[in-house]
Amino acid sequence: MKTIDELLAEGVAGKRVFVRADLNVPLDGTTITDDGRIRAVRPTVSALAAAGARVVVASHLGRPKGAPDPAFSLAPAAARLGELLGSEVAFATDTVGESARAAVAALTDGQVAVIENLRFNAGETSKDDAERGAFADQLAELADLYVGDGFGAVHRKHASVVDLPARLPHAAGGLIATEVGVLKKLTEDVARPYAVVLGGAKVSDKLGVIDHLLEKADRILIGGGMAYTFLKAQGHEVGISLLQEDQVPAVQGYLKRAEELGVEFVLPVDVLVAHEFPDLKTKAPAHPTTVAADAIPADQEGLDIGPATRELYAAKLADAATVFWNGPMGVFEHPDYAEGTKAVAQALADSPAFSVVGGGDSAAAVRILGFDENAFGHISTGGGASLEYLEGKTLPGLAALED
Ligand code: ADP
Ligand code: MG
Repeated sequence: MKTIDELLAEGVAGKRVFVRADLNVPLDGTTITDDGRIRAVRPTVSALAAAGARVVVASHLGRPKGAPDPAFSLAPAAARLGELLGSEVAFATDTVGESARAAVAALTDGQVAVIENLRFNAGETSKDDAERGAFADQLAELADLYVGDGFGAVHRKHASVVDLPARLPHAAGGLIATEVGVLKKLTEDVARPYAVVLGGAKVSDKLGVIDHLLEKADRILIGGGMAYTFLKAQGHEVGISLLQEDQVPAVQGYLKRAEELGVEFVLPVDVLVAHEFPDLKTKAPAHPTTVAADAIPADQEGLDIGPATRELYAAKLADAATVFWNGPMGVFEHPDYAEGTKAVAQALADSPAFSVVGGGDSAAAVRILGFDENAFGHISTGGGASLEYLEGKTLPGLAALED
């Protein structure tokens, strides 16, 4: 894999360099609530610009349906990138149309343009190789070189991630190099005890990783929406909590194998429940009650781990040498359900362990809840990407950057 330093050493002055970034930031309307992903790719963009490249930055944002949708515009992200670079950043209102071609043609050496959300074009995510290829052909016309630095998207077989680097001389950006370096450390020579904390809402996406982690980790702590499938697997009532019913047998299998392998599974002992999901817009008080994890009322929903679980998890993390954390412990976006996520973040911040926080929402949560990023070993910009890497899968976007 060619590094960006090697590319810079060859000289990029006057060249149009396409940077596939991950500017998929959380938005509240047009306000960016966490700019971590933009800050993470800034060094790559500024190094290229400083070397005289004409930099074309591209990304997806959210899940528009293959057509322009103003709710998913990259305009706020482009503006923020300009602020971080301290220079003007041009913005094209399409991906491969007149606006993009004009914006790129107008670039002078050292200037930066951002093109609109790649997923406004159906070719970006198409399962049809020809359709993706046709979009990649159009994107390739915008540039002479390709730098892959959108770590959060490398697990996707998308046109800008896989098909475009096949059409242009390419290199890996600094962010991808850093992310892969950290994940290698977790898979190759990990310091023990190695604890993994899993939570969040994308339960079926994340269960796959457990299979693999059972071979690697010493301790697995489960929280968030995922916990209820585990509690159900143990035969408990989970009320109207998030539940992946079809995964219950698989989870029972994980619990059994963990026992055989001597891996400790730690599940919530108490949870915060309520009759309904909280209003995340008004943040009106939710008045949850605390119940034992085996006593969730049939008509209520578990929305955070409880106080005894917070203490238990902090204790289980205190003596770990390595921690990987993906997925919030509760609906942290509402203050009444943020304490579980805060407790895990605090335990990691207080611990000398090498800690890696992965996942779009998890990374945003630690910053939104006011933690200092430097208190953690590494905050990854990738959720699905880091999980698939830990699962031992080949990531198409990384494979595409090999020679
Ligand atoms: P990440 O982006 O870090 O990988 P996910 O996208 O899987 O994490 O999940 C994040 C979401 O999970 C948050 O929006 C949070 O509100 C939600 N969540 C956490 N706990 C629960 C729960 N008990 N019930 C429903 N949703 C939950
Ligand atoms: Mg998420």
